[in-house]
Amino acid sequence: MPLYTYRHLEESPDCGHAPNFGWEQPLRDWPLAKCPWCGGRVEKVLEPALIKVKKFDCELKDQGFTKLVRVDDGVFENRTRRPGEEKYVDRRRPETFPLLEKTIED
Ligand SMILES: [Zn+2]
Repeated sequence: MPLYTYRHLEESPDCGHAPNFGWEQPLRDWPLAKCPWCGGRVEKVLEPALIKVKKFDCELKDQGFTKLVRVDDGVFENRTRRPGEEKYVDRRRPETFPLLEKTIED
């Protein structure tokens, strides 16, 4: 099934899938009008060349990946943060490391 990119039309701070998310649907289906998670209005983004290779952080997370993006020396932003995890991972502070047990559990 093709993977489409959708964009929230309004700010949706409580939605973990804002501002953009990927959505798989059959070609014949009507585009989504509302976000499946928060119900906010969304529109389809047309970028067919990009959607095949680009993985969104939420998809990575759903597939059990952890994505860390370096923001400073030894400090990484956890882009696939799960409940109970710190937003920033500090190499010198093991308590900020992603919780592997949670990833395997959910
Ligand atoms: Zn949403």
